[in-house]
Amino acid sequence: MNNAAHRDEFTLIDWIKRQQPDDPRVRLGIGDDAALIDFVDSYNAVVTTDMLMEGTDFTFPPASPFLAGRKSLAVNLSDLAAMGAVPHSAFVSVSLPRRGKTWTEEFFGGLFDLAKEFDIAIAGGDTNSWDGPLVVSITALGTPGPRGVITRSGAQPGDWIFATGEFGGSIAGHHLTFIPRIREALSLTHHVDVHAMIDVSDGLASDLRHLLEASGVGAIVDATHIPISSAAWELSVIDGKTALEHALGDGEDFELVFCVSPSDGQRLLDNPIEEIRYTPIGVITDEAHYLLNNERGETSPMPQLGWVHRV
Ligand SMILES: [Mg+2]
Repeated sequence: MNNAAHRDEFTLIDWIKRQQPDDPRVRLGIGDDAALIDFVDSYNAVVTTDMLMEGTDFTFPPASPFLAGRKSLAVNLSDLAAMGAVPHSAFVSVSLPRRGKTWTEEFFGGLFDLAKEFDIAIAGGDTNSWDGPLVVSITALGTPGPRGVITRSGAQPGDWIFATGEFGGSIAGHHLTFIPRIREALSLTHHVDVHAMIDVSDGLASDLRHLLEASGVGAIVDATHIPISSAAWELSVIDGKTALEHALGDGEDFELVFCVSPSDGQRLLDNPIEEIRYTPIGVITDEAHYLLNNERGETSPMPQLGWVHRV
């Protein structure tokens, strides 16, 4: 980091290191050529990585450096949640824009804040600064939860499809402030046998489609059951799309969609797990279709909505 007006890279690394509490999972952390981490009695690591870019994943404003740092880690935690994993450690590689004296501290402040909340050690990474926009890539490691990892591919015909939280309109602010569903995933996997799970980053309709394809099954979703956020309703007034279209198509809700047997589904409804909001939104079928039932009882193919990655 050659920003004479600000600080050199080593000063920044030293500062980052001092922000980290001692953590028994990290035998050798920031400061050497590589980290040495300890998985104790787990032989498997759950590993995920996400790269975020200014202009695509956040713009300043409405994002602040604090919220950008927070979101950068939160999207990785959401992927660990989708696997039913317990957060372990994270590695942060970032190109920081040369912008204001407190920018860097605020960015890492948001990141450290969430790291503390979800007990994940920041064990290493790489920092650079330049005159370009913020680019950050985080690799997060987790250990499998007590019931092992949950994949996208385990949905079975007859399963009930549930979703946590509510959907749509995340662009109004939720995409910067969402709480990754780590606790929800661990609680759900503790209470019921979760057959398949995915986190919703591209959009509810699109990510459920990914789960169906991975499991080789179909689904019928009930439009009247989809929990629609107030932000989706507010946007629908402005842009003419329906609130349902926002809920199905908008990305970055970072909620979980998961499948359980009908008996486990009934158990979740009869004995609601405290402090978790979840809603049954449809059923898995063995036919290769993906259908939406509307409020008039009409069935049509699920519309092709959601974020399409342009590579
Ligand atoms: Mg994901």
